[in-house]
Amino acid sequence: MKLDTLIRTISNYPKPGIEFRDITTLLLEPGALAYCVDAVAEHRTETKIDLVSGIEARGFIFGAALAYKLGVGFVPIRKPGKLPAETLEREFDLEYGRDTIEIHRDAIANGDRVLLVDDLIATGGTAAAAVELLREAGGEVVGCDFVVSLPDLGGADRLVQLGCSVHWLTEFAGE
Ligand code: AMP
Repeated sequence: MKLDTLIRTISNYPKPGIEFRDITTLLLEPGALAYCVDAVAEHRTETKIDLVSGIEARGFIFGAALAYKLGVGFVPIRKPGKLPAETLEREFDLEYGRDTIEIHRDAIANGDRVLLVDDLIATGGTAAAAVELLREAGGEVVGCDFVVSLPDLGGADRLVQLGCSVHWLTEFAGE
């Protein structure tokens, strides 16, 4: 399946100069979500995974479906103030702003092997903060998987620097 042709590009959203890669058009295509989930599962067949963790909000779509496919639990990483129990939090820079993410302090048992999932990696700020949160919570991050990478923004390299195994299904480069 040609994923890049299913992803719509919206220029100057949410800020001037940003080429926003809109995965809602991919989600509309029958079988595309299943294709993405199956491709990630296939890539990680040799990896023992205890939990999938997804980043709010688009990471929930792919991450929860992947957790279902793998038969493992799902840990949501959320925007501030959304999780009801005690949390750990990280602030970070985004391609277009600054943000904070949180995780439930008790979501992960020490040594759990966690696969991190999001729709897209750009600068890697969000995913790097998520990796740090998962590690602080006691998890071992066994992989970071994305549907889309924007390699020119250096996000995947940043995660490799953190010692992560990084994988994505399609990319938009040269912008
Ligand atoms: P970053 O922290 O820079 O890697 O940004 C990743 C997060 O921001 C992901 O959750 C993406 O959904 C979103 N994001 C950043 N840049 C874009 C973009 N150009 N198009 C679509 N989503 C983006």
